[in-house]
Amino acid sequence: MTLHIPFDNSYARLPDRFYVRQDPVPVAEPRLLALNEVLARDLGLDPAALASPEGLAMLAGNAVPEGAEPLAQAYAGHQFGGWNPRLGDGRAILLGEVVDAQGRRRDIQLKGSGRTPFSRMGDGRAWVGPVLREFVVSEAMHAMGVPTTRALSAVATGETIRRERAYPGAVLARVASSHIRVGTFQYFYARNDMEALAALTDHVLSRHYPEAEGAMGLLRAVVDRQARLVAQWMSLGFIHGVMNTDNMAVSGETIDYGPCAFMDAYHPDTVFSSIDAHGRYAYRQQPQVAAWNLAQLATALLPLMGNEAAIPEATEVVQGLAPIYAAEWTRRFAAKLGLDPEDPQVQPLATRLLDQMAATGADFTITFRALAEGTDLPDLLAAQPEFQQWRKDWEAKSPDLAAMRRANPAIIPRNHRVEAMIQAAVEGDLGPLEDLRAALADPFEPDPRFDHLRVPPQEEEKVLQTFCGT
Ligand code: AMP
Ligand code: MG
Ligand code: MG
Repeated sequence: MTLHIPFDNSYARLPDRFYVRQDPVPVAEPRLLALNEVLARDLGLDPAALASPEGLAMLAGNAVPEGAEPLAQAYAGHQFGGWNPRLGDGRAILLGEVVDAQGRRRDIQLKGSGRTPFSRMGDGRAWVGPVLREFVVSEAMHAMGVPTTRALSAVATGETIRRERAYPGAVLARVASSHIRVGTFQYFYARNDMEALAALTDHVLSRHYPEAEGAMGLLRAVVDRQARLVAQWMSLGFIHGVMNTDNMAVSGETIDYGPCAFMDAYHPDTVFSSIDAHGRYAYRQQPQVAAWNLAQLATALLPLMGNEAAIPEATEVVQGLAPIYAAEWTRRFAAKLGLDPEDPQVQPLATRLLDQMAATGADFTITFRALAEGTDLPDLLAAQPEFQQWRKDWEAKSPDLAAMRRANPAIIPRNHRVEAMIQAAVEGDLGPLEDLRAALADPFEPDPRFDHLRVPPQEEEKVLQTFCGT
């Protein structure tokens, strides 16, 4: 079986200082853990060829396919607000780009593929846990209609990774409309490299925003996409966990699934990440953090927009995130409540409900889905007089329950299920991985075989912290 991939590598045609050419580092004993056949076909790739020894060698980083031009991308970034002028792909390799059946250009990147000149103290590797977490969560996000990077494959390496203990290693093949980040712009801005900044801007405009013009047009377009993206996260109870500027894609796709999680019990202050001691990236912070990150993008683009003279307009564009976000939030929550988005009562009704949910620790996903299905609500919530009044006010508006079932997922990748899946995989059992993938293939049409995966965690099952784990 021969694997033919029609690569067309536009990023590799950018100037040398955008990246370092670097092959993935081969692994001992590749073994396929998961293959996304639907995505493979979407990319015009033959799933059987990908699963063949030749395909597996490519997905593990053991062979570089014809037409690939492997490279590690350069970028900088603010991590938890602290500036780092040089991050870059320390454990990822961009193999190249393919143009899919719909004419969309997409990166194929290996993550966990060995050391690069950007690795600093790291080993360039990933273990099975974060690889399978990203696989399951990113594909669930896609199935819920959220713009996101995708997961093509997960391959066990047969090597041991040292973290807090020893774990089995893995490589993820990730697909994205690009891996260009806010931090990519910051990298060249910090070097005062105007030529690179202009080339990057042209590249991103033609690749992601052909309708936009110039650096200001680009900023406006990214603000718009990110405002909508974060509103959609909020509507699903999703917490990214590490919204550093190097983890924000200018395409508007969700990227870099580290200590991310969906909330079980609703509370706006929820934070899972073990490294987020001050709650910088808590659920409720996400829209403000997006604006902060985009202010960094605006700063990086300023030299192309006319420097000081452009500050008032650039500021206005970044401040424009708040109203776009608010309108999109209202539209998303109107759909969740089966209401007309033009109804001025949507915002106060949604807020009243969320306040009651927070006060009673109601499960975010269960509450909205139960309202849509007319099934039992969380006991504590249902017992609240304020909630009972809310329900009367809401029902008086004759909500569209069928529309609600298309807006409120019945199933999410719950943290305790993801952790149990990882644990099983480490012990050699891929059953829970396969179940989670099947159960999440259409989150709005639950399969009764997987009802047990919809249940919130018992007290002792609760996952209190998630780890970057890398
Ligand atoms: P992240 O926290 O995954 O967004 O990564 C932040 C930076 O650290 C990026 O430059 C990564 O490439 C780098 N990095 C993370 N983990 C590793 C690792 N195991 N080896 C080398 N570099 C890493
Ligand atoms: Mg990152
Ligand atoms: Mg990462």
